[in-house]
Amino acid sequence: MSATTPPNTIAIQGRDYVLVSVGATAAHLVARAGPADPGRPIVGHADAVLNPAYDPKELSDPSWSPRTLCGQEDWFMCPTEAGRAYETMWNSREEAVGAPSCRRCLGILDKQFPTPLPDDRLGWNVIRCVEELEQWGSIHIRGVPADQAELLRKAVRSEARKRGWVFVSSLGDGQLIVSCENALSPQRRKFVMADSMQRMHTINSGVQLPQPSWRLDWS
Ligand SMILES: [Zn+2]
Repeated sequence: MSATTPPNTIAIQGRDYVLVSVGATAAHLVARAGPADPGRPIVGHADAVLNPAYDPKELSDPSWSPRTLCGQEDWFMCPTEAGRAYETMWNSREEAVGAPSCRRCLGILDKQFPTPLPDDRLGWNVIRCVEELEQWGSIHIRGVPADQAELLRKAVRSEARKRGWVFVSSLGDGQLIVSCENALSPQRRKFVMADSMQRMHTINSGVQLPQPSWRLDWS
């Protein structure tokens, strides 16, 4: 038996979706149908010849919603590296599609998940971040709980904007890094530059330095 390619599905928050197209270029999402709901197979067109790269059982299992999240019918699975779900001259000529791009599908998906509630400690951590940004122009906060990370970024960004700072951030893996270069006065900036040079010198000479105050842990 030859190995088969899994169909173009993705799991989002524990639920399976097929990535599909409906004529135009956007990649939509089709959810797995509920047990009581009508379902259709990935290849729903009677005259289609199944692409042998996939397991025919997976392509003909009528377990998917007849409509995309944004409500469109007559969908086709987007190609993976192995091509579309059925035989076509386009297979091996098209790029694999690995992520949804339909804004309406994504918007509907967002609404399906409850917005996380701010943790009691969120406000305290925002204050600490803003204080350090005022002093150092950047922060690196670690150990941020996954459901608080985006809330923290938004709250710090809103504080930064109130102060007229240009906000640049990156978020991932429980860490938020923020830089607001114009948070510093020219004098303070000189000091921060000198301090970071000094730190680098010291670290290069093998001396262990205490953690700088702008690198903080969620607490
Ligand atoms: Zn859509």
